[in-house]
Amino acid sequence: MGLLQNFISLILPPRCIKCGKVLDGHNGLCAECFGKIDFISAPMCYCCGRPFDSAAHIKYNAKQCCANCLKKKRHLFVMQRSAFIYNDESKNMILDLKFRDKTFAAPVLANMLFAAGRDIWEQKPDLIVPVPIHYLRMLKRRYNQSALLVKYLSPRAGVMADYTSLIRHENTIPQVQLSGEARRKNLTTAFMVKYPQNIKGKKIVLIDDVATTGSTLNECAKVLHRAGAKAVYSITLARTEK
Ligand SMILES: [Zn+2]
Ligand SMILES: [Zn+2]
Repeated sequence: MGLLQNFISLILPPRCIKCGKVLDGHNGLCAECFGKIDFISAPMCYCCGRPFDSAAHIKYNAKQCCANCLKKKRHLFVMQRSAFIYNDESKNMILDLKFRDKTFAAPVLANMLFAAGRDIWEQKPDLIVPVPIHYLRMLKRRYNQSALLVKYLSPRAGVMADYTSLIRHENTIPQVQLSGEARRKNLTTAFMVKYPQNIKGKKIVLIDDVATTGSTLNECAKVLHRAGAKAVYSITLARTEK
């Protein structure tokens, strides 16, 4: 954000990041919009963060993992968390940040990431890394929405940010235009660790806006592991239910 925009945001009253209504407080969402967002809270899978159907987990303990995670032999992520469910109500907040230059929402959304990542901060990670976008798309859009979130999240969490070690070296077709298998293929060669010395032996938190199939995050985690990362975590704003 430029100096002028910073100044404007100081003199203007805070607005709801979803509907634009003027707010009394600084929490970023009006009561009505807050009620419409499906925030993810316990009980959830301690590993992948998938919300549990509470009735089915009466004897729930806070560190329980879902059947899917228990089955897996190899875990790309120690832990994954998301702030809310991706649906028609939450979609706009994300698209606004991504394509409509509503960057004033970033500090509010970064706070949501911080809250969602509570269990992860307890693990004392070393670095926060945004999922990168290719520089050509960056030129067009002028900013990477995930890096913008990290800019506010890093000081909040007290964890250093690394914007340069993980890069996207092919201009892949936007993932939203593809289906499952095609998405995975589109990404296979897309990510690379440019500075492995910054990654080696580190506990890394990957940040992205949405996790749908999880293939983007998975590919990033794979290259981070190959570069010697000690552990990889992820926090996204939204996730699809599954
Ligand atoms: Zn609102
Ligand atoms: Zn799970």
